[in-house]
Amino acid sequence: MNDHSIAARITGIRARIDQLTEAAGRPAGSVALLPVSKTFPPDAIREAIAAGMTRFGENKAQEIRDKSAVLADTDVRWVMIGHLQTNKARDIARHAHEIQSLDRPELATALERRLEIEGRSLDALVQVKTSHEPSKFGLDPAELEEFLSFLAAEAPRLRVQGLMTMAVNEEDTDAVRACFRRLRELRDTMQAKSIPGVNLHRLSMGMSGDYGLAIAEGSTEVRIGSAIFGDRSYTSKQ
Ligand SMILES: *Cc1c(COP(=O)(O)O)cnc(C)c1O
Repeated sequence: MNDHSIAARITGIRARIDQLTEAAGRPAGSVALLPVSKTFPPDAIREAIAAGMTRFGENKAQEIRDKSAVLADTDVRWVMIGHLQTNKARDIARHAHEIQSLDRPELATALERRLEIEGRSLDALVQVKTSHEPSKFGLDPAELEEFLSFLAAEAPRLRVQGLMTMAVNEEDTDAVRACFRRLRELRDTMQAKSIPGVNLHRLSMGMSGDYGLAIAEGSTEVRIGSAIFGDRSYTSKQ
């Protein structure tokens, strides 16, 4: 294992997460690591599995479908983190264990119908838009309460556990941090309303470049791609 191996990077990031968690005065072990393997080949994922990882984030339905076939001998749990078109709901209902990019009623309805056909359920986080960047997907915070009530009533196969966001992509750490704080406050506001069937204990926020700020603001899960697997050879739309 050299210093730049996937295993070494995972070990390093876990140590950093633990330090940041402690520095934020939060309980040890309260921040999970979700490795994001999008664009990286199955061999890279096998290395991360050998280093103890079991869940992997991907942002394309087709990549989850293809990789779950190649890695059928493992017990990887696939987590959809990218924008999902309703016509791809079947792939996610069939192959994923979780979706963190649930952001609109039509998608919930499409997933619910497909999950019923497959006889499956999915863990789910609602993706909320906390920045004003035009390119970011996610639900408008003003629509969150109504959407959560809708999910609780109409989509029992989506087990909603919390919220996810992507911060503004800027150098300005105050602006980045404000996005994460916004998500936590929204979660607190929704929890205080005690919407029947809704318990938002998870906050998925923080990526390779900003997870320190996210942990300081209460993240329970950081989604780390390039800091584990290396630079991606394309620019992601998200
Ligand atoms: C790609 C991606 C990540 C990981 O980004 P890195 O900067 O490579 O850590 C996290 N979340 C989402 C939604 C992504 O699409």
